[in-house]
Amino acid sequence: MSQVLPDTISPALFAERSDAIADAARELAAAGWTPATSSNFSMRIDGDHAAITISGRDKGKLGRDDIMLIDMSGKAVGTSARPSAETELHTQIYRRYPDINVVLHTHSRTQSVASRLFAKDGVVKLEGWELQKAIAGQTTHDAELAIPVFPNTQHMPELVAQVDAWLDSGRPLHAYLINGHGIYTWGRDMAETRRHLEALEFLLGCELDLRRLSA
Ligand SMILES: [Zn+2]
Repeated sequence: MSQVLPDTISPALFAERSDAIADAARELAAAGWTPATSSNFSMRIDGDHAAITISGRDKGKLGRDDIMLIDMSGKAVGTSARPSAETELHTQIYRRYPDINVVLHTHSRTQSVASRLFAKDGVVKLEGWELQKAIAGQTTHDAELAIPVFPNTQHMPELVAQVDAWLDSGRPLHAYLINGHGIYTWGRDMAETRRHLEALEFLLGCELDLRRLSA
């Protein structure tokens, strides 16, 4: 499936971002966080476009040709490929946060189990963990980092509305879980976003262990 780029987008830039997405996807797949072709990854290209994984591809075998261009409403640009069903959740973050350039979404076992466990509270409150400082802007373990858990739905506008409602309330948002599904997190570049994802995976695993051990 060929990707035709608008004149305003440099092919070198699109190729570089596509490679970065594919590299991250293969590494996250190797960690077991993208089972059965799930998960999706994107990077901003400019104010109006992002590159995102094509729907249904094995994330462990991803290459440059598995990445496509979309606009900020989530529609395919210059290709007949189909973007991930959850594309609107990526473009929402780019629209709401102009300084965010990467969005990663995975379905690890830890993320999935934690989402079910904390769904009744609607939030995971992380507190007292040194690794909270891995999240941009967090300077101490001695603060509460709230990761909301939104109900899952196959109707994306509902999920988009839930995320908008949280953001419109003025509360900080660095990541969110979707119940029985997985996690979304983001950052200014790939390294920061990978750090967020790895820290959250670790912290959710610690919270699960604590509950297991204190049961
Ligand atoms: Zn998903």
